[in-house]
Amino acid sequence: MSESFDIRKWFKSHDELLVISGPCSVESREQLLTTAEGLSKIERVKVLRGGIWKPRTRPETFEGIGEEGLKWMREARERYGFLTMTEVAVPEHIELAMKYGIDILWLGARTVANPFSVQDLAECLRGCDVPVFVKNPIAPDLKLWLGAFERLGGAGVKYLGGIHRGFSSYEETPYRNAPLWEIPIELLRLRHDIPIITDISHICGCRELLQEVAQTALDMGTLGFMIETHCNPDQAFTDAQQQITPESLKNAINKLTFRKKKVDKDEFVLQNLRKEIDEIDNELLNLLAKRMNVSEKIGDFKKQHNVTVLQMDRWKNILEDHINKGINLGLNSESVKEIFEIIHKDSIDRQL
Ligand code: PEP
Ligand code: MN
Repeated sequence: MSESFDIRKWFKSHDELLVISGPCSVESREQLLTTAEGLSKIERVKVLRGGIWKPRTRPETFEGIGEEGLKWMREARERYGFLTMTEVAVPEHIELAMKYGIDILWLGARTVANPFSVQDLAECLRGCDVPVFVKNPIAPDLKLWLGAFERLGGAGVKYLGGIHRGFSSYEETPYRNAPLWEIPIELLRLRHDIPIITDISHICGCRELLQEVAQTALDMGTLGFMIETHCNPDQAFTDAQQQITPESLKNAINKLTFRKKKVDKDEFVLQNLRKEIDEIDNELLNLLAKRMNVSEKIGDFKKQHNVTVLQMDRWKNILEDHINKGINLGLNSESVKEIFEIIHKDSIDRQL
């Protein structure tokens, strides 16, 4: 762990993977300092995280140690040279975090879901140059996430980052919070000024999936990780199943495959394959336009002959048929279904 890590510089260059680790909740001085000591042996960990105020789903569970824990965060900072980071949910948290020299703040998934809270926090941060990371809201709602960046940016927060922590869903998934990678990708497309890191702990919810999800995030080009660690994970007051020891974190980091961000000039194979993909995409677009053309002609015919636009039986049959053909071609049946649903909706809209 180097003492000279400059988070503001990182916001400009993202030249190294930002690894943030520490307990879900700060529980005691001993727990925090022991965990921090373990983390200090991992070169890549630059930031110590610790939840001081915990947004719990149910009352009468551990809701965080409060102000006292900030003193231990400061002690860990002085002892091991980490930058420190905590979650703030109300303006008073920001004031206390600043008082104890916390270096970086984050807004949690539950807070980001509430624009009133985000606005209050943004007002409190006005004129303050502390870096702030914003977790995605619990629900898969990109606009809420975007709105939080806009509120904070509007209040002059200069160092703004995103934390992808997965999304709650009713569908059964192996994850605690489904990653839905398309959402952070779309955020990146709309706001390439915002660096995004991945909170693999809250995506996974268990230790077993961490390695795989960390690798996926790296392959997707994540700029950093937030990973919960605890000196005695099984005894953790919160999120015990997903926390790992600093030692396991060290092993997990060593097992990661780091890939190059850019392709070397001489990698013709990839360049040619990309060219091929571009040509196929072109063909797809041309075919789609041709299909819509035919669809409009069918629409005219239906109008002339007074036939309803939606022909449910035919739609059911063709969808089933396309899905089966897709399966035979080795395609994913869900994707084929979704693609044709979109195409069909567009056709119907044109015929109305
Ligand atoms: C946390 O980081 O411990 C936390 C509560 O996260 P989230 O807001 O993503 O649930
Ligand atoms: Mn947690």
